[in-house]
Amino acid sequence: MTPQAVSDPVGCGTTGDEPLNCPSAPAAVGAKLIGIVQRNGRVGLFGKSLTVDADFLEKARRGRAPEKRFRFASPCLQGGCKQWGEGQCGVIRRVLDALGNDRTGAGEDAGLQPCALRGTCRWFAEHGRAACRACPEVVTDTQEA
Ligand code: SF4
Repeated sequence: MTPQAVSDPVGCGTTGDEPLNCPSAPAAVGAKLIGIVQRNGRVGLFGKSLTVDADFLEKARRGRAPEKRFRFASPCLQGGCKQWGEGQCGVIRRVLDALGNDRTGAGEDAGLQPCALRGTCRWFAEHGRAACRACPEVVTDTQEA
């Protein structure tokens, strides 16, 4: 598996020029690999994203679905996605509801894990640090094989 590294900065705040990205997107050529599901079931987010190529995808599809093992990011489709509702992403909204997280986004940056996507992340744009605290709990494909 040899995805190509790109030099995404780690940081907060969008540039305003780039579209927001879905941080729980399907595996596809051109998507960004942003994290890996660890043994404890939580996702470890990468400080630098990798662009998925055909070779990586072919290898990643051997065995369990790549969406069970990795997290990928792609441009947010907004109304073109079945998860979209009430002008926002329904996935992170439901996760925050389930976890009982507050959405104030209050608190310090200390403890916020590095993440390559933060500057253009749909979830971060909508819920700030609360999304990042809940994010490691999200495995894109949780259906039984
Ligand atoms: S919610 Fe936070 S940690 Fe998760 S992908 Fe977005 S910016 Fe990264």
